[in-house]
Amino acid sequence: MEKRVYNFNAGPAVLPEDVLKQAQKDFMIYPGAGMSVMEMSHRSKEFDKIINEAKADLKTLLEIPDNYHILFLQGGATLQFSMVPLNLMPPANKADYIVTGSWSKKAVKEAKRVGSVNIAASTEDDSFTRIPKQDELKLDPEASYVHFTSNNTIFGTEFKTEPEVGNVPLVCDTSSDMLHKKIDVSKYALIYAGAQKNMGPSGVTLVIIRNDMLSRSSDELHTYLNYTTHTAKASLYNTPNTWGIYMIGLVYKWLLNNGGLDAMYKRNLEKAGILYDAIDNSDGYYRGTVNKEDRSLMNVTFRMPNEDLEKKFIAEAAENGFVGVKGHRSVGGLRASIYNAFPVEGVNAFVDFMDKFKKNN
Ligand SMILES: *Cc1c(COP(=O)(O)O)cnc(C)c1O
Repeated sequence: MEKRVYNFNAGPAVLPEDVLKQAQKDFMIYPGAGMSVMEMSHRSKEFDKIINEAKADLKTLLEIPDNYHILFLQGGATLQFSMVPLNLMPPANKADYIVTGSWSKKAVKEAKRVGSVNIAASTEDDSFTRIPKQDELKLDPEASYVHFTSNNTIFGTEFKTEPEVGNVPLVCDTSSDMLHKKIDVSKYALIYAGAQKNMGPSGVTLVIIRNDMLSRSSDELHTYLNYTTHTAKASLYNTPNTWGIYMIGLVYKWLLNNGGLDAMYKRNLEKAGILYDAIDNSDGYYRGTVNKEDRSLMNVTFRMPNEDLEKKFIAEAAENGFVGVKGHRSVGGLRASIYNAFPVEGVNAFVDFMDKFKKNN
């Protein structure tokens, strides 16, 4: 039988094997339904149970307070770049954005169509190799919200703690590090994440929104783009990605069954530690690309002595069952994405491969 590879893809990305096996087991007949999840009505009692359990399990995992709504939408994190300002920018019509990479820039581009954007900080002059320090932030206390990107999937940097923003609502794109550790949801007004990095397959966007934010959404907004549409209909205003929500629900159960987010964080620290140590102890053969203290636990970016060697490395890695280590096309180099579902054995095997490659080249 064909073997599964070690999948370092940035997203869509590796899923837990237990989850894939469970989905395979119930693929034809979801227990009690006589049909596949993909064939069910999104208004059936079976699907109602699936989506409600997914919400309840997420609430448990993150200890989400009662004054938040959990939504499963479509359009990716990309649609949230628009929905966030359309809903939350009024009435002041200005917002602060902390720019730490390509995704933050895309968020800014859409926000500018809605109102005025203050770049509270940007690390673009440093090629996004670091996260700005708190004292660099030029925050406007009257801003409607502050937006930041917790993990920069392409550059490999990550906020270790939330920026301090006083009483201004905090909004975060957590697409690529959602659920890699416990966060204090009560610090946020809105959190969004495309599912396909660390939570499930593509096609579902998680939005966690605090109740009081909903009063900002104008009736003039297009129905789908209005958060109150989705909170009022509990994510069932239109047909959601039923299969995707089912898969995400299985991932939440897998997290709960494996010790929850504190255990996951410990594992993530261990995995990233092994890989960064291998990079740092290679006498400069492998070079990390970002500030050490800002290194991402999810996307490990590095370079090699020259681009020919990088090409060779990528090709030989693939031959040895390590797939997806090519850096994003906009930055080059190498990137190993080691999300929750990526096994520690895979990191150890990859580090051995790196060592051998160095000796042979
Ligand atoms: C991948 C990614 C996005 C884009 O997500 P889509 O679901 O493709 O729209 C946005 N932000 C971050 C941080 C990402 O990693």
